[in-house]
Amino acid sequence: MAELQTEIRYLKGIGEKKAQAFHKLGVFTLYDLLSFFPRRYEDRSVCKPIALTQNGESVCVRGLVADTPRLTRIRRGLDLVKFRIVDESGMAEVTYFNQSYRRDGIHKGESYVFFGKIEGSGTRRSMVNPVCEREEAEGGVTGRIMPVYRLCAGLNQRTVMQAVRQGLDACGEILPETLPETVRRQEQLCPARYAYENIHFPADFQTLEIARRRLIFEELFVLACALGKMRGERVREQGIRLERPELGDFWQSLPFSPTNAQRRAVDEALHDLCSGSVMNRLVQGDVGSGKTLVAAALIWAAWKNGLCSAFMAPTEILAQQHLSTLTAFLAPFGMRIRKLTGSTTAKEKREIKAALKAGELDLVIGTHALFSADVEYGNLGLVVTDEQHRFGVGQRSALIGKGQRPHVLVMSATPIPRTLALILYGDLDVSILDEMPPGRQKVDTFAVNESYRARLNGFIRKLAAEGRQIFVVCPMVEENEELPQELKSAEEHARELQEAFPELRVACVHGRMKAKEKDAVMAAFVAGETDVLVSTTVIEVGVDVPNAALMVVENAERFGLSQLHQLRGRVGRGVHKSWCILVSDAEGEEVRSRLDILCKTGDGFKVAEEDLRLRGPGDFFGSRQSGLPEMHVADLGADAQILQRAQQAALKLLEEDPELDLPEDAPLRERVERLFRVSADSFN
Ligand code: ADP
Ligand code: MG
Repeated sequence: MAELQTEIRYLKGIGEKKAQAFHKLGVFTLYDLLSFFPRRYEDRSVCKPIALTQNGESVCVRGLVADTPRLTRIRRGLDLVKFRIVDESGMAEVTYFNQSYRRDGIHKGESYVFFGKIEGSGTRRSMVNPVCEREEAEGGVTGRIMPVYRLCAGLNQRTVMQAVRQGLDACGEILPETLPETVRRQEQLCPARYAYENIHFPADFQTLEIARRRLIFEELFVLACALGKMRGERVREQGIRLERPELGDFWQSLPFSPTNAQRRAVDEALHDLCSGSVMNRLVQGDVGSGKTLVAAALIWAAWKNGLCSAFMAPTEILAQQHLSTLTAFLAPFGMRIRKLTGSTTAKEKREIKAALKAGELDLVIGTHALFSADVEYGNLGLVVTDEQHRFGVGQRSALIGKGQRPHVLVMSATPIPRTLALILYGDLDVSILDEMPPGRQKVDTFAVNESYRARLNGFIRKLAAEGRQIFVVCPMVEENEELPQELKSAEEHARELQEAFPELRVACVHGRMKAKEKDAVMAAFVAGETDVLVSTTVIEVGVDVPNAALMVVENAERFGLSQLHQLRGRVGRGVHKSWCILVSDAEGEEVRSRLDILCKTGDGFKVAEEDLRLRGPGDFFGSRQSGLPEMHVADLGADAQILQRAQQAALKLLEEDPELDLPEDAPLRERVERLFRVSADSFN
């Protein structure tokens, strides 16, 4: 008896080798196999009279073989089998290359169905290497909509298809119904069995759509339940209850007054901290909106309550920057602050770890090193993580598992349209900083093409002479991607710039450098020891160089709008008038109008919405960036409506069965738990 967890080896025709190939695709069990949905479909359902087929069309024809197939050997390694087929309307010539067995497999005077591309017209139609089956067998590989699967070495479409067919036959009856009956009815979704059958082998496109809609809903519903359940557990979970401190002292110590948005965010978070439940809050705000100050106020409040805070940054250099910013805010109160990263000396590490264990530090700032297994916290009350998109759901929960359930604050500069935020942060409460500190300079943005190169160089020279620094960003080139001609690598561009400006100090930082080397180059730029920094997008994540007044982006068409906006946020952070120049030689209205959006608006949320509209969410959020598990069928933006419905249904269900422990919710619970297992793995 097959079960869903049975290994695919169980199937006929799947031996050790093929099983291993399936493993490469992430398919281990029959259940995995059934959830291995086709990448696309090929419409072989339409069978046309030969005379009605169009040149270039992929189509089925039903034909009688009119002559005995002839095998011709052209040369070593190349032979062909040729014959003609006819139907009532016309005729076509069929040719198979290097398939000599066709000569004996296809017989004159018998009828077959052929699927393939028609070439030519009139009496000169032909098909090359068409799929072929006997007329009686029609519905096997012709005359229907065929699934097309993702493959890897050792597998072909036929093998996968046959395996899926067997899997469906063996398990169709025992497929669990993940969706609660009430939800399924209310949303008018088809049953699981029907959905799995038709996503693989749809009878027609309408059926396929019905199956797809159900599976998208299911996927999003499971995700929403998982996140909602996490949130519910947290709310019910006892957290350290803080006494609300009088913040006046803190605000008054600052060289400026906080914006209303900053006050509000701090207030919302303080409410969580004093509620008795564990806080898990996201502060979202455009670059420069002052998120660090919000964190500082809360760290201060924790300290007032005798608790230590840990501040985690994605890179060493950012940890260093946060150390100096936070020290400026907090050290005047006598708070004890240290930095702990990969490069901290062993001796210092020992000291810091001992102090943390004894509860003798008030704030520790660092990278992932903060949460390595050997770091113990005596009185950890608050964990702050910067640039949330670098950390996945799984990592977040690992954090929370540290010590005695600390409160968690995550900060993100990626503006996310509401619909997406709903699901992405389903397990978080959100505060939005929608107001910039006063006096923030607008960064003048221009889109130019190569013809401006000389003027641009002149501008760089002039700014550098005034003592300003300049960022130049080149697109990241994937290691295995062939360098398209018009693309310059960061290194090459840096060399050219150094030649053009012998009097300036040009440095380069790119993704293939070791973290240490990168940090050294960045640190030199921050310290003002270099004038021009050429880089791939590694600087995107928030280094602060107030003296930088110009951001040049090469091949700007290769970047997403939100990404460009983030890059632009790296300048205009000091007192100097700043510019952003987007260089692109790409032709076309589309590129122009995209870049124009940036020239016109400085508002990150507007940019994000336009970006989503123009590019679609597939690009907007690689699943890796969002920290969410990979979606099999759903497209987070395009399916936004289903997303909203799934979210609502999930919340409603969780109200009635918060732990999902009613017997009828068992299959759902199983799926939710599987999701956590899978995503926890992918973050290690
Ligand atoms: P981000 O949200 O991008 O992390 P930061 O926290 O780095 O922004 O703040 C950007 C700059 O604005 C910092 O130099 C910070 O000191 C300053 N800043 C923050 N809040 C205010 C405020 N209320 N008034 C004036 N300047 C502020
Ligand atoms: Mg920041």
